[in-house]
Amino acid sequence: MRHLADAQTDVLDAMRPLPEANVPLVECLGLVLAAPVAAPHDLPPFANSAMDGYAVRVADVGEPPVRLVVVEDVPAGSVPTRSVEPGTAIKIMTGAPLPEGAEAVVRVEDTVGGEGAVEVLASVTAGTSVRPAGGDVRTGTSVFASGEQLTPAHLGMLASLGIASPTVRRRPVVAVMSTGDELEPPETERLEPGKIRDSNRFVLRGLLAEMGAVVMDYGIVGDDAAALNRTLADAAEAADVVLTSGGVSMGDYDLVKQELAKLGTVEFWKVAMQPAKPFAFGDLGGTPLFGLPGNPVSVFVAFEQFVRPAVLHMMGATALFRPRVAAVADEPFETDPAKTVFLRSVASPDTAGMWHARSAGGQSSNVLSALAAATAFTVVPVGVGEVPVGAEIELELFRQPSVRTREEALGG
Ligand code: AMP
Ligand code: MG
Repeated sequence: MRHLADAQTDVLDAMRPLPEANVPLVECLGLVLAAPVAAPHDLPPFANSAMDGYAVRVADVGEPPVRLVVVEDVPAGSVPTRSVEPGTAIKIMTGAPLPEGAEAVVRVEDTVGGEGAVEVLASVTAGTSVRPAGGDVRTGTSVFASGEQLTPAHLGMLASLGIASPTVRRRPVVAVMSTGDELEPPETERLEPGKIRDSNRFVLRGLLAEMGAVVMDYGIVGDDAAALNRTLADAAEAADVVLTSGGVSMGDYDLVKQELAKLGTVEFWKVAMQPAKPFAFGDLGGTPLFGLPGNPVSVFVAFEQFVRPAVLHMMGATALFRPRVAAVADEPFETDPAKTVFLRSVASPDTAGMWHARSAGGQSSNVLSALAAATAFTVVPVGVGEVPVGAEIELELFRQPSVRTREEALGG
């Protein structure tokens, strides 16, 4: 059996980066920068007001209340034409450029406006309610490193800097198919004896969509060598990565193995992990192929441990793996000490900030309900077989662990 880390290393080494492209910002969410970004100009580009109020000289408002002559009104988007001379103020809106001579802004709440004049009720110090030029980012400074995956906030930064089409790697196209004569789509109202519904494609499509891949869905392929061969060849031609599920274990109808071997170079691995021990990995004419197991939980685990990091690596990302945190086991469990075991778990932080783990339900590799309830894997390393209550364990978080209800967030 192969060690998980060795198998993961081989998978990553086999991935080739996707081509670079300059992609319009609106299509960049989840893509990865292929070049570092430096600020082409200051952000903010000019000193401006953080408040609606009056731009003043500090010395003029040292002993409020004080009356100042208002010489101009500057809304956001326009430019002051006058400067603030002693005894005067300029009315200014949030985001408008700070006039010459002004040192601070008095909030409108601290004033009483009048005809051509204002009564200032509060003193200010230099810089009060002023956002200086370059206060966020200075021209030329490094903003993002190559390899950063773009979140909504990243897109906002790039937009602010006028980078309308950043250099990223293009979006990966991933083909998925389910294999097995027993499979029916979810639309099938009544299942004939011996049939089950295909769940794997929906798990995989969801996981791929979450990571920003484009999915090509080849549907269900029966245990039929010719059909499988044709579909695999089509998928390898059209996509950057091909994912299959089922047909890679030891059964008589496990044809995926056989047809893959005809189409390319494929290795069948027994990885020392649970679930997802049987796993195929190969190359179909330059397209990486992941032959995932059939059991739904195994599919999820194999995707998380192999496919997700591999696709992120193709996308050029620096961060490939999910976060792990130390936690306390709130329940005892036993696992196979020869394998890295991924237990479907519910992760919750206590008030002291320590993470706790309990089982999300049945731990057989067909039990989807526990996977749906889980927010994390308890990762039990090779060499550990028994975990008593209170033991320190490691959690790999794959879902927001503590989303709050309306009542939890707002009371009532
Ligand atoms: P296999 O490796 O093809 O023998 O599949 C292992 C187990 O996973 C069997 O119980 C299959 O019925 C089940 N399975 C395979 N593919 C799927 C799928 N797409 N959705 C749900 N269960 C599946
Ligand atoms: Mg099968």
